[in-house]
Amino acid sequence: MNQPKKPASSASRYTITAALPYTNGPIHIGHLAGVYVPADIYARYLRLTGNDVAFICGSDEHGVPITIKAKKEGVSPQDIVDKYHAIIKKSFEDFGISLDNYSRTSAKIHHETASGFFTTLYNKGEFIEEVTEQLYDEEANQFLADRFVIGTCPKCGNEESYGDQCEKCGTSHNATDLINPKSAITGNVPTLKQTKHWFLPLDKHEAFLREWILKGHKKDWKPNVYGQVKSWIDDGLRPRAVTRDLDWGIPVPLPDAEGKVLYVWFDAPIGYISATKEWAAREGKDWEPYWKDKDTKLVHFIGKDNIVFHCIIFPAMLKAEGSYILPDNVPANEFLNLEGNKLSTSKNWAVWLPEYLEDFPNQQDVLRYALTANAPETKDNDFTWKDFQARNNNELVAIFGNFINRVVVLTNKYYNGLVPEPSEFSQIDEETLAAVKAYPAVIASSIERYRFREASQELMNLARLGNKYLADEEPWKVIKEDEARTRTIMFVALQIASALATLSEPFLPFTSNKLKDILRLCHNEEQSDVVISSNKEIATAQKNESLKDALSWNDISLKDTLLPVGHQIGKAELLFSKIEDETVQAQIDKLLATKKANEAANKAVEPQKETISFEDFTKLDLRVGTILEAEKMPKAKKLLVLKVDTGIDVRTIVSGIAESFTPEEVVGKKVTVLVNLAPRALRGVESQGMILMTETADGKLVFVNPDDAKVNNGLHIS
Ligand SMILES: [Zn+2]
Repeated sequence: MNQPKKPASSASRYTITAALPYTNGPIHIGHLAGVYVPADIYARYLRLTGNDVAFICGSDEHGVPITIKAKKEGVSPQDIVDKYHAIIKKSFEDFGISLDNYSRTSAKIHHETASGFFTTLYNKGEFIEEVTEQLYDEEANQFLADRFVIGTCPKCGNEESYGDQCEKCGTSHNATDLINPKSAITGNVPTLKQTKHWFLPLDKHEAFLREWILKGHKKDWKPNVYGQVKSWIDDGLRPRAVTRDLDWGIPVPLPDAEGKVLYVWFDAPIGYISATKEWAAREGKDWEPYWKDKDTKLVHFIGKDNIVFHCIIFPAMLKAEGSYILPDNVPANEFLNLEGNKLSTSKNWAVWLPEYLEDFPNQQDVLRYALTANAPETKDNDFTWKDFQARNNNELVAIFGNFINRVVVLTNKYYNGLVPEPSEFSQIDEETLAAVKAYPAVIASSIERYRFREASQELMNLARLGNKYLADEEPWKVIKEDEARTRTIMFVALQIASALATLSEPFLPFTSNKLKDILRLCHNEEQSDVVISSNKEIATAQKNESLKDALSWNDISLKDTLLPVGHQIGKAELLFSKIEDETVQAQIDKLLATKKANEAANKAVEPQKETISFEDFTKLDLRVGTILEAEKMPKAKKLLVLKVDTGIDVRTIVSGIAESFTPEEVVGKKVTVLVNLAPRALRGVESQGMILMTETADGKLVFVNPDDAKVNNGLHIS
């Protein structure tokens, strides 16, 4: 174990933001692993160490994709964002993401804040005004920004590139750069029309960005973040438009700007500020110190696709405004993959949080733990169901759960649940208790450096320490000969259990509360707005019997006794349960089915073949026939040997349909037969013709058959 370098952080003010989820779908494990679980661990830890924390998030509800989705589904953009805002908000509550406020950018306070922010920059002369030619759909009477236009990517030739970005090669460009642009609304070829927009001249801020990030944060920002920022700045920064010709968004607050809104990347990060204002008003606090006091630490948790917005554009906006602090850190994560493939909303390649909870009820902490232990902190990482199962069975069940269960069961069995009075501590006891006291600083050091994987493993090491202590000291044997020694062992083990109950809170909040209930320790949740106890009645009933004060993070280091002699604990309850092979196999099968469906959906329709003459067609002699007999071709997986009545004769046809049909299924079937195909031998059997087939999206063969009983064998098909 590393020796801690410094004590856990001293009290101060933190504004922690988690990326605003885009409100056109639910959220999945990639979002949780990349942003929300690490942000939550950080926020919970800071609260436990006595800091003043505002943990802020909200739905990002503007932008073109939402309006396109609304058009497709025949509803209003507001319907779309209302639906997904509710789903996302519930997922965060369900998974214990302890946000102080989850707001939304369609809120009035946000419209006012973003409008005001724009006006301030406008009045300070921070924008460039420019009239440019933009693509325009005459029929829809609308300018075609971003996703409203599709055309050929000038870089890679992808014919389905969007106006703002090519999804194939990743290049971002202007809609006017596309070759053969088409309107996504009407399919029309757009015209060019002049329009005025406002631009933020990022080039003007280059010197400050170089000084502040490239010099100032070389050591404390993650290398992946620093590297991306550096390459952006070195590439040369250009002015970026902050307005759009659209009817969904925040209207540009200028007299000559009708039909224009703030571009979504301009309004979205201001959402952090509006959400803080909304929270402060509700709590009777002043919001300004959380954004304007230089002693406040502002930390943005995001995924790597948002680095440029949080490290370059938003700071440039804050700096231009002049009264705001800049982020202290932007610990962006890399991406999480799922079973070897990129997570994808459109391909449904994801584990959606609502679905996870249906399949694994009350097991939020297992997912939180598996995602943290395998977090994509320094490189893209893969989530596999096998790893999820192993994290649960080998760590949560076998180490953490096993230790707690033995401590609680034995305390109840030997002492009716009362914490026994220890006799003299042995050297091992002293060393063990000293080791426990070192953990808060060790885990804190990892968390404060945004190394949540490492932190979660240190927590598990504390459980290992407890498990090993019991296994070595064997109270179940010692009790037969040394009653005093047994009391000491159980006393020490109960102290370790109490430390685990407190230190696990940022990582495993549901388990931590359950364990506090079992040990009758007070919850820490009055320090958080989010009540996550699964069993409020029991928690309330126990409150009177519980210790009066919750244990803080630093109490684990400072107090000699966490659970006093004579304190009554509750009965044993399993914290975790084993996940069986069948359970994870069912999840893997679900993904495989998705993969198959995707492949089928993506199968391109083959282009039309070369034109043939009518004479060419009449050469084919197609007849109605009936299958009279069918049997499997020995040693051939795909082939059935059929006897077919063609009306002309009864002949043998070998057909490759055995993987889709049993012989019994096809006997009696009316079919279309190509009767004048030259005979050919298949595995020694001469096949005299061909039966016409097609297939379903998932690869099952289908007969092309005349479905009227009145058509007789031998009739021509033409
Ligand atoms: Zn491209």
